Amino acid sequence: MEIEKTKPVRKDLLIFGTPLIEEDDISEVVECLRSRWISTGPRVASFEKTFVDYIGTRHSVALSSCSAALHLSMLAAGISRGDEVITTPMTFAATTNAILHVGAKPVYVDVEKDTMNIDPDLIKKAITPNTKAILPVHFAGRPCKMDHIMEIAKQKDLLVIEDAAHAIGAKYKDKKIGSFGDMGCFSFYVTKNIVTAEGGMLTTNNEKYANKVRLYSSHGINKNAWQRERDNDFKPYEILFPGFKYNMTDIQASLGISQMKKLDRYFERRKQIWKRYNEAFDGLPVTIPIPEEKNTVHARHIYTILLNPEHLKINRYEFMKALLRENIGTSIHYISLHLHKYYKEIFGFKDFDFPHSTHISERTITIPFSARLTDEDVEDVIKAVTKVINYYKK
Ligand SMILES: *Cc1c(COP(=O)(O)O)cnc(C)c1O
Repeated sequence: MEIEKTKPVRKDLLIFGTPLIEEDDISEVVECLRSRWISTGPRVASFEKTFVDYIGTRHSVALSSCSAALHLSMLAAGISRGDEVITTPMTFAATTNAILHVGAKPVYVDVEKDTMNIDPDLIKKAITPNTKAILPVHFAGRPCKMDHIMEIAKQKDLLVIEDAAHAIGAKYKDKKIGSFGDMGCFSFYVTKNIVTAEGGMLTTNNEKYANKVRLYSSHGINKNAWQRERDNDFKPYEILFPGFKYNMTDIQASLGISQMKKLDRYFERRKQIWKRYNEAFDGLPVTIPIPEEKNTVHARHIYTILLNPEHLKINRYEFMKALLRENIGTSIHYISLHLHKYYKEIFGFKDFDFPHSTHISERTITIPFSARLTDEDVEDVIKAVTKVINYYKK
């Protein structure tokens, strides 16, 4: 029978990254609203404290997004026009845009084909006298080879800023991701491992960076409203330099504090689903994520499979459409940035530059994966993927 005439695997649409919001999360937010202190205040301070305890850095600054954290990390590090930052194109636009927003130049190096993370050997070759920093992305929550990266940075006197948007809870040799570099940037966007709707956190051991980022997040004003409220004697605030409006609100932080308590439980659930997918897809003509490296913890943010075009009669987009007909939503992480119009035009990239990133870009799909999925949801995804592959395989 034609696949279009079969009964879809599911009745309702399962989207790829649904957040898990529970009653106690909702209560925390309601309590914040009732407190009437809804912008940056005590809950933001408490979320920052929780985060510092969890990641193990000395400081953290809650911000409106990880994009904001990446942008301010560049400013705090003093990166500007004429400087170069080494990163990969296998990431979200935010990573590269942060570099562009301070007038610096992103210098791409390719990822490793199997880990999809920055290849340390290629970093060395990309260093020039203008290089100021390395910006590794812990793809899907898999830790980059931090020993190698930190060693290169030390030898060449470069900063390291980690894009840890996928990687809350990830570890490299017993140390949390986001605590290796000079600064780490986390995201609590709706699809991420923990959510505040929109939100981000910058982690650092360097007090100067923390202070700078805090100032930059509130227009360069040296005291926020909550601090002013608590001051006994009135002192006017001062504007030290023109900053941005990148602060996190207490509403967001109330959700963040509540979600932090569930991080371990969510991670256990992610591990179960990950394992089930690995078993189920093992025999199919798709490439599944390689196992996590020894002495590391993979945060399991997204589950991606690479389709094998030699074995399928349809292309990737037709495959995604076929899954959607089964009511399984998918996404793509990522179309390599060097293939996107803007970056291609300004930097003159060719499609065949960064062959591993290109290879992944052309084949990858992200299937539903979140702590919210029930066992039935997981089996539906497996059934649908298997059904579509079997129907369209060559
Ligand atoms: C989500 C994401 C970001 C940006 O996070 P926001 O909080 O949405 O600004 C940055 N880098 C990567 C790799 C991401 O996945």
